[in-house]
Amino acid sequence: MENAKARVKGELCKSCGICINNCPKQAISKSGQFNNGGYDMVVVDEDKCIGCGICYTVCPDYVFEIN
Ligand code: SF4
Ligand code: SF4
Repeated sequence: MENAKARVKGELCKSCGICINNCPKQAISKSGQFNNGGYDMVVVDEDKCIGCGICYTVCPDYVFEIN
């Protein structure tokens, strides 16, 4: 999809860091904002994201949508 970006459903994030370690564009970082589970939610830099979907594939907690 042209111009697709990763979207974060932050309440599902457990701050494991797998997505951060696998994003080829270093577009994902921890936000410093904590969800109701007490986890530091990740955030996507849309200027860096190419919509590749790797984060969607590797996240064990279904945090990402690509659209
Ligand atoms: S892989 Fe999923 S649960 Fe882990 S830090 Fe990334 S978004 Fe959060
Ligand atoms: S879609 Fe690809 S480039 Fe964008 S945040 Fe996920 S892994 Fe990184």
